[in-house]
Amino acid sequence: MKIDFAKLQDQYQLYKTEIDEAIHVVLDKSNYIMGEEVSQLEESLQEFTGAKHAITCSSGTDALLLAMMALDIKPGDEVITTPFTFIATAETIAFLGATPVFVDIDEKTYNINPDLIEAKITSKTKAIIPVSLYGQPADMQKIQDIANKHNLKVIIDGAQSFGSTFNNMTDSVWGDISTTSFFPAKPLGCFGDGGAVFTDNEEIAEKIKSLRVHGQSKRYHHKYIGMGGRLDTIQATILNVKLKYYKKDLALRQEVASKYTKALSGKDLILPFVAKNVTSAWAQYSVRVKNRDNIQSSLKENGIPTAVHYPMPLHLQECFEYLGYKKGDFPISEIVSEEIMSLPMNPYLTDEEIKYISNRL
Ligand SMILES: *Cc1c(COP(=O)(O)O)cnc(C)c1O
Repeated sequence: MKIDFAKLQDQYQLYKTEIDEAIHVVLDKSNYIMGEEVSQLEESLQEFTGAKHAITCSSGTDALLLAMMALDIKPGDEVITTPFTFIATAETIAFLGATPVFVDIDEKTYNINPDLIEAKITSKTKAIIPVSLYGQPADMQKIQDIANKHNLKVIIDGAQSFGSTFNNMTDSVWGDISTTSFFPAKPLGCFGDGGAVFTDNEEIAEKIKSLRVHGQSKRYHHKYIGMGGRLDTIQATILNVKLKYYKKDLALRQEVASKYTKALSGKDLILPFVAKNVTSAWAQYSVRVKNRDNIQSSLKENGIPTAVHYPMPLHLQECFEYLGYKKGDFPISEIVSEEIMSLPMNPYLTDEEIKYISNRL
């Protein structure tokens, strides 16, 4: 058997007629930049998430930049986040001249450990950026309480978690600003780069809309230093089709995850843990194994692709050497990065494939 990790092609084939038609409508209109399909998508995203404002943009990375620019994060500021995430979370903090301050993760969820946050707060701290890793929101209530107590902003990096919930609300409505990515391999992916920013705050929403078009207030009049950060109309029209079926996709991902968990329980691995008041978007199904290299190569020989999210925590990355962290500073992130391994995960994984994979672990 040869298994496809994300089955992007299967998904395209499933919705091909509708997607091709939608793309051709845009081609015929040639409204490539900020066409009406973009505002249609933003309205649908608001409806789906419950956020008052959804502002689409050029990527999940740019969504983080726009969020921090809107909150005026600047050189000298400190922003607390997790070292066990994709580089973009901390890279964007540093890109704006602020300092990423890392806090180790919870041993079960692999998300930032809220109990360790307060010790890292200083007079320079401006914001906390929890990441909803593998699709599961962090402990949003505890993080919000800490932020309220210390007058800090919360930005959620929800690049992997579109459609997930914490206390029955999507992670797009928690925090001051929440972001997501529509990178093809994310749970809701477009056919290129794309992202979105969510907020309930009218003022922040207006500022982000301006920042994404070079900080303009009206054409050729610029109120802020901004960026070229729009989502293009073709990506928006693809997302308009895919969003209609996304609830079904999420349910299928949940089903695949439950089947994996059932098939793998009792084996010598640590399975994903999902907190009680949370639903995951299941961007990844990641297990912890000893002897990862061997297991990955034997799975590969059997036609089973795996991935490692992520092999090196951010405090040990060369680009962050200047921050002065060293091995041993975040022991949970370090051990998990050595043991974690993601299995093929997508809504279309068959029972037969799940069984085939599980029998080889
Ligand atoms: C994918 C990802 C991003 C970046 O999203 P892009 O759309 O690829 O720029 C940011 N943070 C996390 C946690 C991600 O997984």
